[in-house]
Amino acid sequence: MQFTVHPPRPRGIIDIDGCAADYTQAVVDLYNDYLFEQHGSKAPKFTVDDCTQYSIFDSLNMLQADRAEMSRRIRSEGFCARLPVYRDAVHALTELKSVADLYVVTSPLGPAKTTEGGHPSPYWIVERDAWVERELGIHKKYVTHSHCKELCGGQFIIEDKPENIAAWCAVHHDGIGIVMDRPWNRSSTVTNIPRVYRAYGWIHAMEIALEHLRSEKERYHDDR
Ligand SMILES: [Mg+2]
Repeated sequence: MQFTVHPPRPRGIIDIDGCAADYTQAVVDLYNDYLFEQHGSKAPKFTVDDCTQYSIFDSLNMLQADRAEMSRRIRSEGFCARLPVYRDAVHALTELKSVADLYVVTSPLGPAKTTEGGHPSPYWIVERDAWVERELGIHKKYVTHSHCKELCGGQFIIEDKPENIAAWCAVHHDGIGIVMDRPWNRSSTVTNIPRVYRAYGWIHAMEIALEHLRSEKERYHDDR
């Protein structure tokens, strides 16, 4: 059998929560609704800008009982399926798809902590796969559900969690890390690491990735 060998196509790794899907906005909305049920018009109203730590529950100083109920609601059917898409994500990913193969690597939501009720979610992974295909046009065979993002290599990773960027760049020396600017990572020093860039929105992230792919292509041809 004859095989045709094509030059390798670049590969990009895409995170979902906090990057393509606005998980934080959805949790903040859910919490505001919950507080309204409890306290009516006297309830405080939070925004995404209040989420200055990676833990939304800690950022909003949630009481233990509220955490348990919020954990249950986040893990209920339909929550993951209805997450909003960040502005410009679809356009940027469509452009990137024309020059690179995109792979989603997304940390699955585990069971809630036992102090928060221990609720598992039988819906999360199935709803995430369907969301990624419906909203981003990426089939589930290109979706990996793992906390260990550095397992998947490529020319770039777009991610909101600084620890994930640092771990990925430590392994993939030809790739760049693009940290999506969010209130919860704004004070991070991850951009001090060489090859890590901060992106202010999806158009900016796309431009950084495209520029890297262009320079990689020139280097590839210069070496020959
Ligand atoms: Mg994320």
